[in-house]
Amino acid sequence: MTHETGVAIVTGSGQGIGQGIALRLAEDGLDIALFDLPSNKEKLDRVAEEISKKGRKVICLFGDVSNEEDVSNLVEKTVNELGSLDVMVANAGIVFHSLVTETNVSDWDTLFSVNVRGTMLCYKHAGIQMITQGKGGRIIGAASVASKIGQPYASAYVASKFAIRGLTQSAAMELGKYGITVNAYAPGPIDTEFLGKFDEFHTSLSGQSKGSFLEGLKTKNCTKSIGEPKDVANLVSFLASKSSEFITGQSIVVDGGAVFD
Ligand code: NAD
Repeated sequence: MTHETGVAIVTGSGQGIGQGIALRLAEDGLDIALFDLPSNKEKLDRVAEEISKKGRKVICLFGDVSNEEDVSNLVEKTVNELGSLDVMVANAGIVFHSLVTETNVSDWDTLFSVNVRGTMLCYKHAGIQMITQGKGGRIIGAASVASKIGQPYASAYVASKFAIRGLTQSAAMELGKYGITVNAYAPGPIDTEFLGKFDEFHTSLSGQSKGSFLEGLKTKNCTKSIGEPKDVANLVSFLASKSSEFITGQSIVVDGGAVFD
């Protein structure tokens, strides 16, 4: 895979998929701006140490993706300290579980502010910076198989991921003329803390033992397995590379073969 030397931002990179993506892009030769909530500082510092050991430049920045000032500062500080912005990975996202008939408006609004407004703000401020730089770029968002098909007990999450798929298509149409591609990864179950929340919810609902929901998920795809952050990072590595220049507006499923589109 050929990467330009460049700079990537990865939001929600203290753990899980974001951590996997940050480490992979560093291995690909990019300098990295890590970003997470201040409460995740220890974990983010550990990811930064690993990236430094790979010989890449790395900075840790903190804030909330749902806050416009935080996202605009993230882009500004990245460019000031690392010299450019070539790849934006808008990875941060949250979930809560509820029946639609029991959904609390404040939970709904919080989830939408992080998943949808947060992703839009990352696309917006990366887009502004990349247009100014005039050398194209790669904007990549976190969709999900939940951006393609509904799931019970997750209507807010599913609706937010459908929104990210739509946002990605529209942004791709607007930014293509600047040489900027906009795509999203759409993972199935990936082994992270986040997936643990699905297991906790569904096993407490069914009364089955902890872990049994995840075991059940393994039977539902072609590869009979749950993915790891590296499986998503492999796709993002390609989307961030020069080789993906004719692919834009897509939300690409990476799920071991369960949702076909
Ligand atoms: P995770 O919960 O393990 O990690 C999410 C990270 O985002 C954490 O470091 C968290 O602190 C950070 N974060 C949360 N809210 C934030 C905010 N407001 N501002 C900045 N950072 C914030 O989750 P994960 O499994 O690594 O998932 C990453 C992304 O991939 C999410 O968008 C999720 O919806 C998506 N996804 C995950 C799976 C899966 O099975 N794990 C499947 C499909 C899609």
